[in-house]
Amino acid sequence: MSLGLRYKDDSHIFDEKGLDGTPYLQFPLLERTGIVDHGFSTRLGGVSRGDFASLNLSFDRGDDPEAVRENFRRIGASIGVKCEDMVLSQQTHTTNIRLIKEEDRGKGVVRERDYTDVDGMITDVPGICLVTSFADCVPLYFVDPVKKVIGLSHSGWRGTVGKIGKKTVEMMSEHFGCDLGDILAAVGPSVCVDCYEVSEDVIEKFRENFEEKFWKELFYRKENGKYQLDLWKANELIFREAGILPEHMAVTNVCTHCNSEILYSHRAAGNRRGNLCAFLALRQGGK
Ligand SMILES: [Zn+2]
Repeated sequence: MSLGLRYKDDSHIFDEKGLDGTPYLQFPLLERTGIVDHGFSTRLGGVSRGDFASLNLSFDRGDDPEAVRENFRRIGASIGVKCEDMVLSQQTHTTNIRLIKEEDRGKGVVRERDYTDVDGMITDVPGICLVTSFADCVPLYFVDPVKKVIGLSHSGWRGTVGKIGKKTVEMMSEHFGCDLGDILAAVGPSVCVDCYEVSEDVIEKFRENFEEKFWKELFYRKENGKYQLDLWKANELIFREAGILPEHMAVTNVCTHCNSEILYSHRAAGNRRGNLCAFLALRQGGK
């Protein structure tokens, strides 16, 4: 049995898990550490209907809140985390990263949030599950198996220009003394270069923030004057620039837009869609 996803190549970046209930994708790179519970949701296995069908994980898009709560419960049960332990970002395409503490447990899922403009989170508290939302933008997962610290960020084109991935690991290093040579970093399911057309003004920002020698790898111009932009490659370059070792990286080969029947895609459905979530928790008792 499989999800029927279209992978861009045959490299083994993901395992498909939970196929008999609420399925999710998991990175073998992170799972091998034995210290985290993590996953990335799909549209499958939930109770939402219509454009939200079926595992919508957003309370803010007009779906029935009871259905969303049930969806969180289901994906949590599948991955091995409880709703009471989840902490949800409040994403506005910033590069703000919040240090998540014990008192934040449950915020955004079972309790009100008391923060805004949070696109990245880090924590060293076992059991707390960081949660970020997606529908084409790029999820970034970070695990330091030595210091037992995790980070999770939302990197759309603005976050990528602002290098939120680098900021996240720098904050892990600053607060917890993480050694960049120890950190594992993964780019999750999001829009691929073939599906991501952008205009000149976006490319101008990438030219300003990435060295010219990388431009060929990052984007190309088309006959219509628009560009195709590779956010996967950009985040991989940001990982390298931050000091993450190549053997400590995993970069998605699953595109949300190429798989819009199985994953929500903003470029495919506009606002008539639900949200996917990334989940990452330090396993209880792992510290
Ligand atoms: Zn694609």
